[in-house]
Amino acid sequence: MLSIKNLNVSAEGNEILKGLNLEINAGEVHAIMGPNGSGKSTLAATLAGREEYQVTAGDVTFKGKDLLGLAPEARAGEGVFLAFQYPVEIPGVSNHFFLQTSVNAVRKYRGQEALDRFDFADFIEEKIALLSMPTDLLARSVNVGFSGGEKKRNDILQMAALEPDLCILDETDSGLDIDALKIVAGGVNSLRDGQRAFIIVTHYQRILDYIQPDYVHVLSQGRIVKSGDFSLAKQLEEQGYGWLADQQ
Ligand code: ADP
Ligand code: MG
Ligand code: MG
Repeated sequence: MLSIKNLNVSAEGNEILKGLNLEINAGEVHAIMGPNGSGKSTLAATLAGREEYQVTAGDVTFKGKDLLGLAPEARAGEGVFLAFQYPVEIPGVSNHFFLQTSVNAVRKYRGQEALDRFDFADFIEEKIALLSMPTDLLARSVNVGFSGGEKKRNDILQMAALEPDLCILDETDSGLDIDALKIVAGGVNSLRDGQRAFIIVTHYQRILDYIQPDYVHVLSQGRIVKSGDFSLAKQLEEQGYGWLADQQ
């Protein structure tokens, strides 16, 4: 599904990613761990097409297409979803309207008819039920005054609504209490279907206790320096990241 080869990325003249390689197949869950500043968010933002990151070398193909040649909207249309580390607040715009607009934008890209307000109401109700979420989030302004847990719920609801093939979650571990962690993990688990792939970016191993990843990768200084299974996450929890630096 996703193939990243020798990815080099800079921002404001800083080289951040320096030859990153990663292969992800349909249905797989990959955790990306690593110390602060190692480039995890840069990887996520680059895949989503955020403009401040310049790709200076390397290739990324997604479902056989050159991902880096696509505008951010086209990437979303193709099925790449990024849950932001810091969700935006949009006062005056109801969450319901925001989600309907986002869903119809990707439907248009995919050559599907737009959902009118009645069809969308049914559609989103189904997603809310799938995720066992409260419906009152829909009537409120996007993320305004949401608690940490509500913001995470909203991220997951948006993810479910856009029906992506590849979900990228870039977590603020420090901000997540155990309830928010469980919301995110429960959402991810209910959207796992053997086809959809996930990249779970995390600084701590905690969330991986709830989302069993197929692979765990350690990003350090802009490259993946070690890959393994869930036991690698456990080892990092016990030993930190220092021993990896010593190995290089
Ligand atoms: P992580 O998510 O692993 O903590 P980031 O990808 O956020 O790491 O950052 C990696 C490095 O790149 C850091 O040194 C950070 O300061 C730098 N960096 C990230 N984004 C930018 C940017 N937009 N402009 C300049 N430097 C950046
Ligand atoms: Mg960071
Ligand atoms: Mg980060």
